[in-house]
Amino acid sequence: MLNFTVGPVMSDDVVRAIGAEQVPYFRTPEFSAVMLENEKLIKKFAKAGDDARVVFITGSGTAAMEATVMNVFDKTDKVLVVNGGSFGQRFVELCQIHEISYEEIKLEKGKALKKEQLDMYDGKGFTGFLVNVHETSTGVHYDIEMISKFCKKNGIFLGVDAISSFLADDFDMNKLGVQVMLTGSQKALACPPGVSVIVLSDEAIKRVENRDVKCMYLNIKSALKNGERGQTPFTPAVGTLRQINARLKEIEAAGGVEKETKKIAELAQDFRAKIKGLPLEIVSESMSNAVTPLHPLNVSAYDVFMTLKDEYGIWICPNGGEMKETIFRVGHIGALTKEDNTTLVNAFKDLQKRGLL
Ligand SMILES: *Cc1c(COP(=O)(O)O)cnc(C)c1O
Repeated sequence: MLNFTVGPVMSDDVVRAIGAEQVPYFRTPEFSAVMLENEKLIKKFAKAGDDARVVFITGSGTAAMEATVMNVFDKTDKVLVVNGGSFGQRFVELCQIHEISYEEIKLEKGKALKKEQLDMYDGKGFTGFLVNVHETSTGVHYDIEMISKFCKKNGIFLGVDAISSFLADDFDMNKLGVQVMLTGSQKALACPPGVSVIVLSDEAIKRVENRDVKCMYLNIKSALKNGERGQTPFTPAVGTLRQINARLKEIEAAGGVEKETKKIAELAQDFRAKIKGLPLEIVSESMSNAVTPLHPLNVSAYDVFMTLKDEYGIWICPNGGEMKETIFRVGHIGALTKEDNTTLVNAFKDLQKRGLL
């Protein structure tokens, strides 16, 4: 299988080898050391401030989204949510479920957020802002510098879901004034799914400390307390956290986050150059390095996904809902190479010959 989806993605041999090992007992100094190292490296790669902390939640990315909404906001907040696709919609629903007052900036699918749209909310008393910096469902990467300026000017607490963008696109949490940043194990971290990561600035930690969350499992205060000694309140996905550890160390040894981002950017550029001349149109105004959203001009996007999967052993990422027949996505995260891009492009060419593209 050759996997170009946006998660789970392919893991490298080091990460896979750990997956084959026995899972160790975890209330030990050895596992605490792994967790503290994970925290240190995530902080470094996110460019978080010295006082920032990281918690690891056993649960997919949505668990981190829900924990964030519950633990940093309350009834006194007024949150602005960018809703440009299914992940933006998820933040909207989380605000509804947890009774956080919010307004949404609803964007047309595939469209970037413009300064004029944002300016309409200037000086309107918002206290929080939630955005999925890369709205993976449509492949739009928002202008985070612009959002950061808006939030700084208005004194708004900025929470960023960077789940599919972390490691793939440049991101400087401290410089951007981002208070909470989220990511997950199965995107560019290229590990199995099951762990999500929340990076909290000192301001975010203060918010968490001052709230009384009515939830046992997604209680960040208790995760922070346990994390001081490299532990978690409950049994975490021990195996996956060990895989994350190996992967983070690998990235560090290979030159750090900049090198990793450059590698993903080069893979994306290579793919985008190789599809020139094929009946595939890139459909995003502003792309992440993580994904290329494509509209096949002559055929159903879903049919292309199915044929590649069933006849070529290649997985691209189908879109859901109203975009199912018109758009598919090709991911550039995970253990992929430029040769893999060539394999996919050759498959596209073969489909074209067969009248299937
Ligand atoms: C993958 C992803 C998530 C998390 O989805 P899960 O299925 O819960 O892991 C959240 N936000 C974005 C932008 C994503 O790409």
